Amino acid sequence: MTEIIEEGVANEGGLNFVEQEIANDLAAGKNGGRLNTRFPPEPNGYLHIGHAKAFIMDFGAAEKFGGTCNLRFDDTNPQKEDMEYVNAIMRDIHWLGYDWGDRLYYASDYFPQLYDLAVRMIKEGKAYVDEQTSEQIAEQKGTPTTPGRPSPFRDRPVEENLDLFERMNKGEFEEGSMVLRAKIDMANSNMHFRDPIMYRIIKTPHWRTGTQWKVYPMYDFAHGQSDYFEGVTHSICTLEFVPHRPLYEYFVKELADESYCPRQIEFNRLNLTYTVMSKRKLLQLVKEGLVNGWDDPRMPTLCGLRRRGYTPEAIKDFVNRIGYTKYEALNHIELLEHAVREDLNKTATRVCAVVNPVKLILTNYPEDKEEIIEMDNNPENLEEGKHPMPFTRELWIEREDFMENPPKKFFRLSPDKEVRLKGAYIIKCTGVKKNDAGEIEEIYAEYDPDTKSGMPGSDRKVKGTLHWVSVPHAKDAEVRDYDRLFAVENPSAEEGDFRDLLNPESLKVRRNVKLEPWAAEQTKPEGHFQFTRLGYYTVDPDSTEEMPVFNKTIGLKDTWAKEQKKAAK
Ligand code: ATP
Ligand code: MG
Repeated sequence: MTEIIEEGVANEGGLNFVEQEIANDLAAGKNGGRLNTRFPPEPNGYLHIGHAKAFIMDFGAAEKFGGTCNLRFDDTNPQKEDMEYVNAIMRDIHWLGYDWGDRLYYASDYFPQLYDLAVRMIKEGKAYVDEQTSEQIAEQKGTPTTPGRPSPFRDRPVEENLDLFERMNKGEFEEGSMVLRAKIDMANSNMHFRDPIMYRIIKTPHWRTGTQWKVYPMYDFAHGQSDYFEGVTHSICTLEFVPHRPLYEYFVKELADESYCPRQIEFNRLNLTYTVMSKRKLLQLVKEGLVNGWDDPRMPTLCGLRRRGYTPEAIKDFVNRIGYTKYEALNHIELLEHAVREDLNKTATRVCAVVNPVKLILTNYPEDKEEIIEMDNNPENLEEGKHPMPFTRELWIEREDFMENPPKKFFRLSPDKEVRLKGAYIIKCTGVKKNDAGEIEEIYAEYDPDTKSGMPGSDRKVKGTLHWVSVPHAKDAEVRDYDRLFAVENPSAEEGDFRDLLNPESLKVRRNVKLEPWAAEQTKPEGHFQFTRLGYYTVDPDSTEEMPVFNKTIGLKDTWAKEQKKAAK
């Protein structure tokens, strides 16, 4: 893959280059002014954010131009496919807000027509059964600069080809013992024309058609024809299919007259830093237990991103920002995170949680006293109101917010220094208690009763503000912190085993988190929160009433925006 990192090529408000091509075709009256796209996932894994880029284009263009978009399961390989994937794929497309209506199709529905076409091509001398091994076939293919050599079976009589192909499909021969190949041109400069394989033998039952078929069409022999059967006008796919396009058209022409051929248009794949996008590799991570399933919040799968707390709006915004081009690129994951942050900033409810607690005791605050502080649910949108948070003599604060011997610019708590407790009082640290191991067990401070936030005369300024949770009211919670799944920026470009590049520190579970009581009552599935000063967090399905569980969606620090500012200077 070329190593360009390219961003901001989206044609905001206007059309991207694929949409421009579609607009031109519609303006020229092609296909009677009809637009029909399709999204053709193979049900052999869960969808990832790269697939989202593809179907946002397919469904999005149909929406934009008043056309239709088919969902077609490209289920031509029973060895790898499963119903589980079909359901997950439909759920994920719906999650992003798209729907195919009654336009749900399966490539397996076309097996009879494809088989008939193959038989016709055999009869017309355009296809033959090859009994060589796949190694022999590969070895004869030649290179882009040297022609291939013909198979010794290339000139078999038609009758023999017909008989063998039928018997292949009856299950008389072993997998791998023969294939059906198109007889095109072993010297063609396009390698895909050098007698491509049309059918191979697979004996694993198909999840839809059972044991009816023992031969299954290859992608190149199924895809264009499926588009044709469905009346697809624009078959939008990724750049690696550019060299397949002439073959796509070659096979469609076996069916079509001159009036109609679906048009294939290719755009660049989505590749993200610090992750892999190959379904094969993602499957490996799942199967080998290197992640906790397809929906592990570290995965680039749509179900993983959803569980992590990424929103459909953020994903669509990101895809729109990176745009669609004709050259390969690697996109910064920080831009995706930026989009997530922007979206959650608008919607996430602000609450207090202390993820690494240490006890703070306000020695001059009455033991039985309790005040209710009204906290904004979202300062970005005051209409969302406020919620009550109890304030007491004993509070949890973050261990990292206290230092006994602080460096110069440490504006949090340290001996004899003042900070404000968010929404409450200014306090001054008066001492600490340590255990035998020298670890701090309790921090002591005095509060200044004249400094309560919002009260007249309370506007004395101090540099630091800390979040806190009342000890007697706190609810226990679990937080799962995530870091990059891979330790290197572009794992696919590295040599060796990609599994060796996994970041061993990508998951950290915190079991002693202290949550303000109101927040514990608001935990609905996939609910988004901002933990004050810490970041955005999303309720995990493992959550129970006794123990709420949150995934850290993303921290507050926007490294992408910072880099952009630096670059602009
Ligand atoms: P494979 O073919 O190796 O199983 P795939 O990721 O191409 O993997 P498909 O189910 O065939 O899986 O993909 C469905 C559609 O999604 C295809 O049209 C493909 O071009 C598109 N697609 C797949 N990966 C990406 C990506 N990273 N970026 C954009 N589109 C993608
Ligand atoms: Mg594919």
